[in-house]
Order: sequence, then C-alpha cells, then structure tokens
Amino acid sequence: MNGLAIATVVAASGTARTGPSTDYSRLTPLPQGTQATIIGRHGDWLRLDYGAWIRASETQISSATVPPHSIIRSAISRQRPGWTEVLFPLEVPVPVTVNQTADSLTLTLHNTTPQTDTIYIQPDAAIASFTWQPLLPDQAQYRLQLRGQPWGYQLHYEGTTLVLSLRHPPAVAPDQPLRGTTILLDPGHGSENDLGARGPNGYPEKDVTLIISQLLRTALEAKGATVVMTREGDEDLYPGDRVDIINQIEPTLALSIHYNALPDAGDALNTAGIGTFWYHPQAQGLSIFLHDYLVSVLNRPAYGIYWNNLALTRPTVAPSVLLELGFMINPQEFEWITDPEAQLQLAQTLADGIEAWMRQAITN
Ligand SMILES: [Zn+2]
Repeated sequence: MNGLAIATVVAASGTARTGPSTDYSRLTPLPQGTQATIIGRHGDWLRLDYGAWIRASETQISSATVPPHSIIRSAISRQRPGWTEVLFPLEVPVPVTVNQTADSLTLTLHNTTPQTDTIYIQPDAAIASFTWQPLLPDQAQYRLQLRGQPWGYQLHYEGTTLVLSLRHPPAVAPDQPLRGTTILLDPGHGSENDLGARGPNGYPEKDVTLIISQLLRTALEAKGATVVMTREGDEDLYPGDRVDIINQIEPTLALSIHYNALPDAGDALNTAGIGTFWYHPQAQGLSIFLHDYLVSVLNRPAYGIYWNNLALTRPTVAPSVLLELGFMINPQEFEWITDPEAQLQLAQTLADGIEAWMRQAITN
C-alpha cells in the first residue's frame, strides 16, 4: 500500500510560509492540531497540500490512506465576557487563512467542502454581519463585517472544531478611557547578552527602554490603567517569551519600547526621529496616532510609520505596536534620549497619547 505522509502541527502556533526558508513571507499561523498532506520537501521544510511551507520540527509526521479533508455543515456563535466566539465544527482540523482589513475579517478553510445548511451567527458587540461562500476547489470562506475598531482575535482548535475568538472593544468610559484597561509594556532587550543599540559613548538601549517603560507605567497608572511589564529588571528574554506574555495576559493593548540603531552604511548625523511599527490592521491606527502625536507635541523629527512583520507586532490578541523613540547613535538625539527631564516629558506625552487614542477608538 502506498500511503500518504500527513503533517500534524504540534507547535502552539505553526509558522506557515510562502517558501522553504525564513526569507519567505509568513502566512496565517496554523493552529496546533492542524493536519495536511505533505506534497514536497526541501531541506528541513515541508510543503503542505494547500500551498504553504512549514518547518518539519513544528510538526509530527504520520501516514494515512486518505488526505485530511473535511465537510462543513454549520457555523454558530457564542458569547463569553469581552469576546464573541465563532465555532466551525469540522471532521478534521484543516489549514486556515485569515485576511483582515480595517473593518472586516475573512477566514478561509482549506481542504473543506461545504454542505452547509445551518448558520447561526448573531450580530453583536463585535460582529455587524456574517456572510459566506463556497469556493472551488474545496474551500469555504467566511466574511465577518466588524463593528468599529477591530480589537483583536485568536484562532485555535478545540478537538476538530475551529474556534475564532473576536475581541470586543474595551468597555471603558470616554472621560477616563484607561480606567479598567490593562496595558502591556515591553522594554526592549535586556541583560549583558542583549544590549540593543549603543549610544556614541557605548550607553546601551536596554537601559533607556527600561527607564522609559518605568516612567510610562507610572503615568499610565495615574490614568487608571493596570500595567504589566515583560521585564522589571535586566532579564534576558527572547522575543518568543515576550509574545507568550502578551498572549497569556491578553492586554487591552501592547507596546514594545525601543530606540533605533543605524544600519552599517547609515548616516548617524542626519538620521533621527520617532518611528512606529505595526503589522495587523488593528494596530495601524494606534501606530499612526502615536507617531503623529509624539512628533507634533514634542516637536521631534518624524522617522515614519512602517508596516513590519516583527515578533512584537505579530500578536493578534490586542493592538500591538513597536515604538522606536529615537536613534541612539545620533549625537544630538542621544542627548535628548538620555536627558532625565526629556524622559519624563516623553513618558507623560506617550501616556497622554495612548489615552487620547483610546478615547477616539472607543467612541468611533
Ligand atoms: Zn531595540
């Protein structure tokens, strides 16, 4: 008998890519338990039947006589505090793709044939409307029109049922929009192994990211927020550790605090300013708002707003933004970066900006 090789994702979240190396773009991560037929191999990488590549080490390989494939007959929604869950009961955990826009989320189930006769999705705090269509060959596509600012989502398998959890905007009052929120601050780098960028005199980025995060925590707490920090001291954290904390805490929003380094051929004297980085649409508005707010209120140079696929912009559970608050190597900017009064002013302005964005996001 000539069997098929089947990959089952064993990583908490399988990294699917457009080709067989880390040079290739990321696709929607595959939830743990996802199964697909292996149709090719290249080094340590497996090509799955729906087109994506994944590292063999994130999977367990078994054999089967028929490819993993599912019929879908229904979809239903249910509520839990702060979230709407949409359940897709399947026969096999199939690969999924998510496409987001500023106000919608489209979920595609691969290797799936619809025989759908029941859909029970109630419009609610997160979902304005729900539509779906069968696509050939063997795909089912579900489009969720969202209400207002999309806040975040999670995707996982409960057995063979796919659960898409959509986050509601936080229930806060416009006059005190940070009261009742949880804000995660991630001071970049840390420890002697990871100094980050260096100033002209060797002063490490890891120290100033911690100072600013501590000042920002105080300013946010004064506005009623609960603040969680990924590190309080000089701990050595991997990006994955920081992301795990975000996924575990499920903060209202997450900010990773950094200062920039120049690439080797960069011009240290003429490169300066505030940069912000986002990846998912729910973080774009926050990224633009904080960049423009800091630049205008503090009269700092604008380095710009970037879409960037970074570990700390990839969490989907909350708007996650990475801030580069200046260039360590620019001598003039370095003076501003390390000046204690300027640090206090920066932290207070950032807290004011976060509060102003939150007020706008919940009233839109
Ligand atoms: Zn950094």
